[in-house]
Amino acid sequence: MKMRRTNKVLVVAAHADDEVLGCGGTISRHVDDGDQVAILFLADGEGSRFDVTEQHEKENSFRELSARTASKVLGVNDVFFERFPDNRMDSIDLLDVVKKIEYYIESISPDTVYTHHYGDLNLDHRLTHQAVMTACRPQPNFSVSSILCFEVQSSTEWQTPSQNTYFIPNWFVNITNYVKTKHKALSQYANEMHKFPHARSFETVECLNKWRGSSVGVDAAEAFFLARHILK
Ligand SMILES: [Zn+2]
Repeated sequence: MKMRRTNKVLVVAAHADDEVLGCGGTISRHVDDGDQVAILFLADGEGSRFDVTEQHEKENSFRELSARTASKVLGVNDVFFERFPDNRMDSIDLLDVVKKIEYYIESISPDTVYTHHYGDLNLDHRLTHQAVMTACRPQPNFSVSSILCFEVQSSTEWQTPSQNTYFIPNWFVNITNYVKTKHKALSQYANEMHKFPHARSFETVECLNKWRGSSVGVDAAEAFFLARHILK
């Protein structure tokens, strides 16, 4: 069955690389389907690891350059960075994050939004989810009809297991034809990847996508939790 055709897609990720790990194949498929895709990154990605300002700036620019290159590989030109402090997004008022997301939603009018799962171990991921859900309050004439939460290796499965945090996928996208593109995009973040058996390794990404695919009878898939869908 062909995936529902959408017109405008917004991906809201905390860090550059989350978008490829979580939904790189799906992004590429949307682009192939003729959909307009924009990606918004909220955190600067390096702040908690480098205290020296100059070094921080250098690493940050490199990460953003990687993000732009990875997005181009996926076919996306609309890439935005908000540079909230990495792994310290709880130091910002949630309302400030919500307002930024609202600005992009108002400008882009997406009908589909992809973002983090609420149960992730990484607090930026959790706050991103919460801010997206707040920004996507389904008020009259609101553009967003679908909100899908992706899984990010080394965060989604690393959370304390509980019924409240467990990632239970109920939406799958066949990415069999986009596995190579996803791998190429992920290669732009080689510095963020580790050697197998680390959860964030190229092998694990391939294994996970194969597992998600075989769960639904296709060669490779990305899995999501559908947070909301409004049939308009
Ligand atoms: Zn992340």
